[in-house]
Amino acid sequence: MFTRLGLSLRSIRSKWLSIGCTLLGLMFVLTSLYISPVNKYLHNLDTVKTTTTTSSSEPMRACFVVLVRNSELQGIKNTVIQIEQRFNKQFHYPYVFLNDDYFTEQFIQEITALTTAQVNFGKVDQQMWGYPSFINQTHAALQRAELATQGIPYADSESYRHMCRFQSGFFFRHPLLDPYDYYWRIEPDVDYHCDIDYDVFRFMKDNGKKYGFNIAFREFLATVPTLWQTVLDFKKSHPEVMKQLPSPEDSLWNFVASDDGLSYNSCHFWTNFEIASLDLWRSNEYLKYFNYLDRAGGFFYERWGDAPVHSIAAAMMLKKDEFHFFNDIGYRHTAYTHCPTEPIYRDKCSCNPADNFDYDPGLSCYSIFKDALRR
Ligand code: GDP
Ligand code: MN
Repeated sequence: MFTRLGLSLRSIRSKWLSIGCTLLGLMFVLTSLYISPVNKYLHNLDTVKTTTTTSSSEPMRACFVVLVRNSELQGIKNTVIQIEQRFNKQFHYPYVFLNDDYFTEQFIQEITALTTAQVNFGKVDQQMWGYPSFINQTHAALQRAELATQGIPYADSESYRHMCRFQSGFFFRHPLLDPYDYYWRIEPDVDYHCDIDYDVFRFMKDNGKKYGFNIAFREFLATVPTLWQTVLDFKKSHPEVMKQLPSPEDSLWNFVASDDGLSYNSCHFWTNFEIASLDLWRSNEYLKYFNYLDRAGGFFYERWGDAPVHSIAAAMMLKKDEFHFFNDIGYRHTAYTHCPTEPIYRDKCSCNPADNFDYDPGLSCYSIFKDALRR
């Protein structure tokens, strides 16, 4: 009896053992199938983590920021629908809409209907959008007419200049942005091509990133003929600021400098997409830099863009590893597209990798960015 019982117990045990082994094997195969694409995904993101493990679970103080006109309602709806679909339906970050005019009821209603996130609408006042007293408006008008003869985009536009000055020196000081530490700038009539399934703001914080971009471009030098010299003058006249900044080797100075720093190579990050730290622009160093440039008059007498103004400052003020190239955020603005080309993005993105602009030989500065990181 005991023997029989012992035998049958043994046979039951070995049956369970073999079932257990099969299950374990199955689990192993399933887990490796599941994990390997995830690992590949992380591996492809230039050594940074998109998972969040280090920072606390406190909510991120971050928002989308949009400067837009009432007349661009359809275009910005198109962008917000994509942002919600690709990213924000999962994360519910608030939006801040800014305008130099009052937003219409229709605008507010149609935008609010697109998201469950909080949406704030604000007007930009005269001090942030208008001529400062030290600008000679007659001279500015003459300079606009002169630039227009060169066929430069927006050469004769006054509003474009106010916009660039606002984006360079004021948006981050608008009271509606006070509650936030990070922002993602969006624009009307652009496309967001890829699903973003992690929190990009938490990613910025966890990885110590201060400035994120996805397109690096060459500027029309005719819009900024005296910008570089003004920056050099600023550096010389503000040794106390320069003392606070990383050395040229630790910074991304070589992304913008050429001829041993004597001239501007025209490279800049496109600011129509930006995911960045607001503290960067709110810093004393940046505010002194902006005020110096503003006094020099180039926002009005030339046509200084917020992209070269931001990029030169970031290249001077941040360390190399505080920049992030958002390869995974496929994006189109006007005729230019950043589309991640790696095979793992094909089921996340709708763009055609053949349209990717990163290595355009004449216009893209992405290779110069990578060189500047290495130097
Ligand atoms: P581009 O990207 O340099 O060609 O310039 P855009 O025309 O796209 O302008 C940049 C951003 O500023 C967009 O979000 C525009 O909607 C916005 N913008 C440009 N000019 C004005 C303006 O006069 N008023 C307002 N409220 N927004 C403007
Ligand atoms: Mn634009």
